[in-house]
Amino acid sequence: MNKFRIGYGEDIHRLVEGRKLILGGIEIPFEKGLLGHSDADCLLHALMDSLLGALALGDIGLYFPPDDPTYEGADSTKLLAKVKALVDESGYAISNVDLLLFAEQPKLKPYREQIRRHIASLLGLALDQVGFQAMSNEGLDAVGEGKAIRAVSTVLLERKENE
Ligand code: MG
Repeated sequence: MNKFRIGYGEDIHRLVEGRKLILGGIEIPFEKGLLGHSDADCLLHALMDSLLGALALGDIGLYFPPDDPTYEGADSTKLLAKVKALVDESGYAISNVDLLLFAEQPKLKPYREQIRRHIASLLGLALDQVGFQAMSNEGLDAVGEGKAIRAVSTVLLERKENE
């Protein structure tokens, strides 16, 4: 078994009217929300894909198929708990995660620490193991035009002692 494994995940969802905006498991007050089969939490989706990628276990579509009615409106924090269980069984522990969120609107700075703390608690990590940055896309492409929100996640796993 390798001592370290790195994972990378990315996700983008369209912003539409008539949906709640959920990012990192936190509901953010805004007139639009992300479109998707589940709660469309692109930040947690990118995080899950990075964890699965680090373990070469495929992607979230494999575990939570978008055409499966079970996952309609699903709370992504519950899906993350299932992915976390796979990590816990793998013989590896999360060393750190680093998350980036790109959104033109709403401004996410006021929620930054709340989101970061929530993700640390969902993963059972100390706060200094979770990096989180929220930034605009400088007006560029679909994210910059306020049509979508995009998230990126990088994770490092370290083999647990005596496993
Ligand atoms: Mg997604």
